Amino acid sequence: MQPVPFHKPFLTGSELKFAAEALESGHLSGNGRFTKLCHEYFEGQLKAPRVLLTSSCTDALEMCSLLIGIVPGDEVIIPSYTFVSTANAFALRGARIRFADSLATSPNVSPESIRELINERTKAIVLVHYGGVACDMAPILALAREHNLFVIEDAAHAIDSYHHGKPLGTLGDLATYSFHETKNIQCGQGGLLIVNNPDLIERAEYAWEKGTDRSRFLRGEVSKYRWVSLGSSFLPPETTAAMLYSQILQLDSIQRRRCEIWDYYHKALACLPANVLTPHVPPYATRNGHLYFLCFPDSQEASAFAKFMSSQGISVVTHYLSLHSSPYFADKHDGSELPYADYYTAGLIRLPLFSAMTEDQCERVVTQVHAFFGQRD
Ligand SMILES: *Cc1c(COP(=O)(O)O)cnc(C)c1O
Repeated sequence: MQPVPFHKPFLTGSELKFAAEALESGHLSGNGRFTKLCHEYFEGQLKAPRVLLTSSCTDALEMCSLLIGIVPGDEVIIPSYTFVSTANAFALRGARIRFADSLATSPNVSPESIRELINERTKAIVLVHYGGVACDMAPILALAREHNLFVIEDAAHAIDSYHHGKPLGTLGDLATYSFHETKNIQCGQGGLLIVNNPDLIERAEYAWEKGTDRSRFLRGEVSKYRWVSLGSSFLPPETTAAMLYSQILQLDSIQRRRCEIWDYYHKALACLPANVLTPHVPPYATRNGHLYFLCFPDSQEASAFAKFMSSQGISVVTHYLSLHSSPYFADKHDGSELPYADYYTAGLIRLPLFSAMTEDQCERVVTQVHAFFGQRD
């Protein structure tokens, strides 16, 4: 039998046609027609005042750190159970990272854990909507208001998912999406900065264009463009934007298929042993079919499961390693225990989930998950 891969990047089939149009247009660098089409789409869909396409979500996070004016000594609260870029973007500008723990019921950050870390040096709360399921935003936004903190959503997983009906990526001052090949829609590597706080729009445009007011120049507002702030080359070339635009046009069908697979797993795996956690979607949240996981009580059980699935030709994969105990950060950590971040690090395994998965492949995954638990009863 053919092995079931963990992931296969989705291709619409029209990427080459769109990229060829970009090449033939003569405008190859960023901020051309396809970039504008992507911007129009997301600004319309999200009702966001400004979005900017970036070369990666990592870049968009680095822009966030720049835009909120992080200086050495500022503290930023970040979940430990996340991808390295979430924290690295702020560490790069000298922030002291304070790691918060996850919830018992979900890898999402615990609002209580955030509350305990806030002090007079705290500048921002960064959160990750893990697997595209919204964080518990009401208490987090209340804490931010109370202490006058920026809220930044790392919404890398979270396209087309909602919190009380509002799109994820529109709840914080700033938010970021990823279009890396492993995400729901992709252009190889790409990202998006979403600017919800109107006070940050002008600086975001400057930072995007190497710290210049080129965007004002292009609008005819100034006669020459000048160096006006710190920035970098954050924008992707038109060929990348073209590829992304071809995926945007297919977003609905991609999402329908991914959610179908997610729902199938969720129903078929509803009766696993009580000590094995599966994704939980609270009443204020939605799922967007980004990923499906099982979390085992410890790393021995998780690796026994991964080994069994692999022996059946099914590729399953762990996820993040707690950043507070990473080689780079361990000696900078404040020493607090983060038991849930460690629990997801040790026990979480993701099942295959990609739009081109066949019915047969989905059924094989479920059959083998049941076989794993059956053999041990
Ligand atoms: C994928 C991912 C990133 C990084 O995205 P890139 O576009 O590859 O830079 C950041 N944060 C999270 C939570 C991610 O899953």
